[in-house]
Amino acid sequence: MQQKLLKSTACLAALACLAAPAQADWVRRVTDGIMGTRITVELWADDEAKANQGIDAVLQEMRHIDDSMSTYKPTSEVSQVNAKAADGPMRISKELFDLLVTAKEYSVITDGAFDITYASVGYMYDFRKHVHPDEQQIGKALPAVNFRHVLLDSKNQTVQFSQKGVRIDLGGIAKGYSVDRGIDVLKSCGFTRAYVSAGGDSRIIGDRFGKPWMVGIRDPRKGEGEVIRRIPLVDAAISTSGDYERFFEENGVRYHHIIDPHTGHSASKVRSATVIGPYATRTDGLSKTAFVLGPEKAMEIYNRIEDIDAIIVKLDGTVIYSNGIEPAKGAAPPN
Ligand code: ADP
Ligand code: MG
Repeated sequence: MQQKLLKSTACLAALACLAAPAQADWVRRVTDGIMGTRITVELWADDEAKANQGIDAVLQEMRHIDDSMSTYKPTSEVSQVNAKAADGPMRISKELFDLLVTAKEYSVITDGAFDITYASVGYMYDFRKHVHPDEQQIGKALPAVNFRHVLLDSKNQTVQFSQKGVRIDLGGIAKGYSVDRGIDVLKSCGFTRAYVSAGGDSRIIGDRFGKPWMVGIRDPRKGEGEVIRRIPLVDAAISTSGDYERFFEENGVRYHHIIDPHTGHSASKVRSATVIGPYATRTDGLSKTAFVLGPEKAMEIYNRIEDIDAIIVKLDGTVIYSNGIEPAKGAAPPN
């Protein structure tokens, strides 16, 4: 009897909800398992149903990108390219073609530090299983690492690898791209205040009614909630790469998921790099540079690019900022 009563009260409450006038509010959803990472979408919506439709559309778009670009999925378009593009020109989707063009641009801007053919060696690492290639394996595969091996023909929309052994992986740019696509989807649905993030890549449109969004930059040697600084952002993207993301240690060597295209080893010249700019594809593509080139050279490049700012945590724990950002007052001393 009691149960029945409870049940009917719950029904009444649900009905009351349905009958209530629509109310604008912030709605936030966190989803795991797309692109192997955590997706967060937060937006301001006229009512919850509209918010959920918008968020569903973002997630659908991200699943599509995962299906087409993941190297973990043998059926993905990228896996097909890796299997066949050394045999001759291969026609690919406009979406993948355009992203390959963008990836090559970032290789040029970063003096080759960003290079999707890192995967020609990178595929032999498995950070979850603590597996890494030996010197001989790296030496043999390394000649295939070079973005110039990826031949793109815009007239025929084809890709070809200039030699055998070349592999590509868009893990260093696809999350940022999916965030930008997510924002495009929300804009086309009419949302004007939103935050979308995939792992370490985020983008924001609008503000929080007169206030900026505050995005924390994690302290690379502390727990997830510990930040070195909070950055106020409006209409901007932000990406952080860290050596703490996916790594293992063996005989005092830290193996982690950013690979130096020149050596085939983990690129370990900084602890973390955060890049702020207009698009997440761009900030994602540029955030790996500091690991490969080191803090000074990378900062030179970041300062040269007009719409980019950066915050780098060096190996000794000191933090350096690009010209557009004031250093934090009372910044933490090196540890
Ligand atoms: P997350 O995957 O959490 O967004 P990052 O943005 O730091 O992390 O990207 C790391 C990923 O970039 C790696 O897992 C790998 O797929 C890819 N990657 C590693 N080294 C390079 C490189 N030199 N150039 C381009 N992509 C790289
Ligand atoms: Mg990223």
